[in-house]
This record gives sequence, structure tokens and C-alpha cells, in this order.
Amino acid sequence: MAVHAHPDDESSKGAATTAKYAAEGNDVMVVSLTGGERGSILNPAMDVPGILDRIEDVRREEMAAAAKALGVQHRWLGFVDSGLPEGDPLPPLPEGSFATVELEEATEALVRLVREFRPHVMTTYDENGGYPHPDHIMCHKVSMAAFEAAGDPQRYPDAGEPWTPLKLYYNHGFSLQRVETFAEEYSRTGEPFPMQDWMENIRRRVAEHGDVMSRVTTQIDCGKYFPQRDEALRAHATQIDPNGMFFAIPLEMQQRLWPTEEFELAKTRVRTAIPETDLFAGVLEAAEVQDVTR
Ligand SMILES: [Zn+2]
Repeated sequence: MAVHAHPDDESSKGAATTAKYAAEGNDVMVVSLTGGERGSILNPAMDVPGILDRIEDVRREEMAAAAKALGVQHRWLGFVDSGLPEGDPLPPLPEGSFATVELEEATEALVRLVREFRPHVMTTYDENGGYPHPDHIMCHKVSMAAFEAAGDPQRYPDAGEPWTPLKLYYNHGFSLQRVETFAEEYSRTGEPFPMQDWMENIRRRVAEHGDVMSRVTTQIDCGKYFPQRDEALRAHATQIDPNGMFFAIPLEMQQRLWPTEEFELAKTRVRTAIPETDLFAGVLEAAEVQDVTR
């Protein structure tokens, strides 16, 4: 179960990993906590009359196409996008939006879905939200709380039969090492590097928070699924510019130089050895033990 704040996050964070596990026959579910109602139109080609008026429907259609591209199941949790507050001082969050909801209420909604879908592994964002959007920070808090509560019969007794997920990961997409690897390849050929601004952004983040690679415990080899990731990204046509940064590096170069996605094992109830190359490492063994002792 991959828990995300907005439709399109599932296609930019750990997307190829979900496609891989789905293709290998696992049940994979993406959960969008909000409807992404406050996302602005970031693709100039989609900034045309008739789109913004029905943005909620448009984003539902986009999400359905993205889930299809990844081969995953998808569910909405039904909370309302908080938007990215801008200005100094920051304006208050819109009333009733996801980041203003009581943690208990949001957690119960996710616990209900965890108990229904019964995932062995969950993914979410780290305590910084991956990037500082209030909905991403809230996504982190709700996922942590649901991971703890879902298996406890005392918690949310009306939200279904208890189910204990075994592992919880953070997505780590913004690796400086990855971007620098591509930059080196461009400097070898003398071509201008199309992600220069992005690399500077990440350098600033690294100066503040440290490099995510120091936190990564688990790398998933999923280059084969990068085309599906890109198709899912393109499905979010209002949010993703097909001429933008996400598509700047040729697929072949990404598959050759950095064919993995990065995760941090944040919680585990099974034994595993770090570094890992499989989100399910230790899970099958634990399930067998459960079978034997049942
Ligand atoms: Zn988001």
C-alpha cells in the first residue's frame, strides 16, 4: 500500500516500484489522501478554457489513467487538498482542508482501509514530507499513526478487523547523487545539462537536511518499469509538463546509470538485513512462521 498526499505523487515517488510489484503478481494499492483540488495547472498546454472549471473531475480522470499505467489498484480517502500556502506571512490553511483535520479522524479513515486491504508493506513520506507541503507532512503523520493502530483491537474498534502491517518505508526521490551522476554523463559528452536548476535546488536541500542517500536502506531495481512510470506521469496532464524536468533525461540513460528507486525502512516488525533490495524482505519468512504457529 503506497500512501500519497495528492494524485500525481504516486507517479513521481516510487512509481516504478509499485509497477514492478504489481507486474510480479502482488496486490498493490495506491491511496490518495486528498483529491488534489487545489493543484494549479502546471502544463501550459493544458491551461485552456474548460479545464479549471472542472478540475476535480479532470484530476479523477488523470488519476484513473495513471493507476492503469502502473497496473495498480487505487482508492481515494476523500480529504480536501490544503494547497501550498505562499506569501510572507503564510496565509492560514483553508478551513476543513486535509492538513487541518484532526489526526484521529484522518487516521481512522486510513486504518479502515488498511484493515480492508491488509497490506504487508506500506510506503509514505518522511517527517519532512519529502518536500514541505502541509499535506505531505500530514500524510507522514497519518501513515505512522495508522501503521501503529491498525493491528490494535482497542483502537478504532468500528473500523474493521485488526490487521498488522509488517514494514513501513519512506520514499526518497530527491537524491543529489542521482542527479550528479547524470550531470557527469552530460559533462563527458559536452552537452548542456537539462536539470541544472533542479540540481541547485537539491544542493540547497542537502545543505539543510543532509543527503537522503545517507538515510536510504533499500534500493529497488525497477528500470524496466520506468516507461510505465513516465506514462503515469504523463497521465497527470494538468500537473506535469511533458517538456519539463521529469522527462529531461533520456530513459535509456536513467536505466543504465540509475535503475533504482530509493526507500528508507522506517518501521519493521520482521527481521531483515540492511541494505535491502526488496520491500518484502523478511515478510514471507514471517508469514510462514505465522502459518506454522497458527
Ligand atoms: Zn503532493
